[in-house]
Formats: sequence, C-alpha cells, structure tokens
Amino acid sequence: MAPVLSLAPSEIHALATDFDRASPTEILRWAYEEFGTNAAIGTSFQGAGLVAIHHAVQNGIPLPVFTIDTDLLFDETLELKTRVETFFGLQIEAISPEISLQQQEAEFGPQLWKRNPDLCCIQRKVWPLQKKLRSLNAWVTGVRRGESEHRSNVQVIELYEFDRLLEQRIIKVNPMTHWSREAIWNYIRKHGIPYNPLTDRGYRSIGCRPCTRPVTSGEDDRAGRWIGFDKTECGIHTFLGENI
Ligand code: SF4
Repeated sequence: MAPVLSLAPSEIHALATDFDRASPTEILRWAYEEFGTNAAIGTSFQGAGLVAIHHAVQNGIPLPVFTIDTDLLFDETLELKTRVETFFGLQIEAISPEISLQQQEAEFGPQLWKRNPDLCCIQRKVWPLQKKLRSLNAWVTGVRRGESEHRSNVQVIELYEFDRLLEQRIIKVNPMTHWSREAIWNYIRKHGIPYNPLTDRGYRSIGCRPCTRPVTSGEDDRAGRWIGFDKTECGIHTFLGENI
C-alpha cells in the first residue's frame, strides 16, 4: 500500500497550472522528488510513452516502468518490450489480468471483445491497473491532448479517483500533454528510440490485436481502436474513476 497522499486538491490544481508549459524532464523530476519510486511510468509502448521514458532515463530519473500485458497484444508489441528494455537498460514490469483467456472464455464465451469490449477491457486492463495503482502515489502516462477529442482537456498533473467505492486516489502525471504527433516522431527518429513496426503500416494507437486497425490520414490517432463500437477508450483513463 502506498503512503497516503499529502497533496490537497487545491495544491494539485496549482501545480497543474505551474507545470502547464514545463518540459517533460521538469515534470518527471518533480514526480520522482515528490514520490520516489511510489511514482511509476505506465506504458503501452506508444510513441509518447517512449519519449517520456527517454527523458527519464537520459536525465537520471529512476522512475520504475510498468505495462499491462492483456495476453492479446501483437507479437510486435511484445518484441518491442524486449527491445525497449535493452535500449534503455531497464526492466519493465508486466502486469497480467487475474483471469486467463481460457477462464474468460469459459465464463463469458469466446471472443468477448467482439460482443462486450467494455467487459473485456475491464477484466484485462482496468482491474489489473487498479491493483497496481493501489501500490503507487503517482501514475505517469503518455497521454496527449491532440490524440482525440476525449483527451483534449488533459492536465499535466491531475488528482484521479481510481476507485470511487473505496475513495482511493492517485496523482496522474501527464508530461507529454502538449506534444504533437509530429514532435513525438521527430524526437524518436532523432534519438534512434525503438518503436513498434506496426506504426510504419498505418497503426497509430496500438492496443490489443483484435481491437486495433490502421487509420487513414485525417482520422484521430485513436480512430483505429474498437471499430464498430462507440468506444475510443479502454477504460484505464475513464472507467476507473474521475479527475477531481
Ligand atoms: S482492447 Fe479488446 S481485446 Fe484488449 S482488453 Fe479491450 S476489448 Fe479485450
């Protein structure tokens, strides 16, 4: 269990204003100085997350890194995890759902993602993340305002209630909010950071195999997720709770 948060909501709002135009390094350094290893970077190896990790490693900010392995990731994503660990010289903790795909199929039938993707995401992403967040004070994300309409108002630092029932809260730290897609990919190319080869085949926001398609130019980065459903978020930024 992580230590109780010492920051009041008003202080967090003030910090969000102060850090609004700060560099990722300044924001990550603040997170580490404030919370130590009770702050961690959560990544699904999208471009912005990779850039955030690079800023941390390059500047000697030893934030732990974790990812959620839903058992349904692309082979390219799993291989990327290994390449990223080698490139940065760090170990990335892989968090797994409590139930296997076989158990899920036995309980809910085959290919739940085709019938009820919210329920599938809750079990394979939201609950594992919720469990992880209970051990932290701050969760660093690669969320960007330009990714979609839904994310356009993301603040650099937010107070996030991830379990409304138990009133459990965490600080969300979003050091990449202002970065454009172009800036992210210029940075990745400049520094030779490994990235998902699916990106070169038109995939922009890359999640699970059954729920991710390439996008065409002019579409939101997240338009290739959950085709055929009125769903653009897996729920880790929405189902858990709310920003306060
Ligand atoms: S993205 Fe698709 S396959 Fe992955 S957890 Fe969500 S519904 Fe299931």
